[in-house]
Amino acid sequence: NFITFEGSDGAGKTTVLKRVFETLDTITEQPSILTREPGGNRISEMIRNVILDRNNREMDAKTEALLYAAARRQHLVETILPALADGKMVLSDRYLDSSLAYQGGGRQIGCQAVYEMNQFATDGLMPGLTIYFDVPVAVGLQRIAEHRSVADTDRLDVETRAFHQRVHDTYEQLVQKYPDRMVRVDATQPVEQVYESVMTILRNYLNR
Ligand code: C5P
Ligand code: MG
Repeated sequence: NFITFEGSDGAGKTTVLKRVFETLDTITEQPSILTREPGGNRISEMIRNVILDRNNREMDAKTEALLYAAARRQHLVETILPALADGKMVLSDRYLDSSLAYQGGGRQIGCQAVYEMNQFATDGLMPGLTIYFDVPVAVGLQRIAEHRSVADTDRLDVETRAFHQRVHDTYEQLVQKYPDRMVRVDATQPVEQVYESVMTILRNYLNR
């Protein structure tokens, strides 16, 4: 089982995912791993640092998309595929849909081009289930402003509100396009309720 978690900034993915992972044994006996892009492996982290380095402001959008795809491939090969081969369930905080939304939509390269580039990077491996944390752009940005330091990884200094709106719009299109794979969760709810919604979706998916 390969399951991914997606959403725009400030959706609360990371917080909820941690709790979901800690209590996963209440709904399945399958061993599992929780991972996140870029996956904590050495090479992907190095690539990620190049992307987020504030000195690299002149980075071209396609260069950025290629780097994300490269980091994704290394995460896939080093972490995701070995875990799946061991019979584990893999929960990943972000995967290919993030590139469709951020690079395809946000940076306006176009989803088709980003999708194709990522087919090469992933050999077409897609999750069986994607849980999409849906939060309106204004609410997400408000949460980030309240709870995070400017030094955090979100490149809010180079990302305008219009950028975040395009990211959100693209996620909306993806949910419409892949109704069998993607399930939306209302992430404006309190964390406890978002957590319960995610657990219900996972339970239904695993018992299908
Ligand atoms: O996963 P997390 O919310 O920590 O992502 C941090 C930031 O990385 C996002 O806000 C976004 O600016 C950026 N990002 C991106 N393209 C991706 C994944 C993440 O621009 N494919
Ligand atoms: Mg974030």
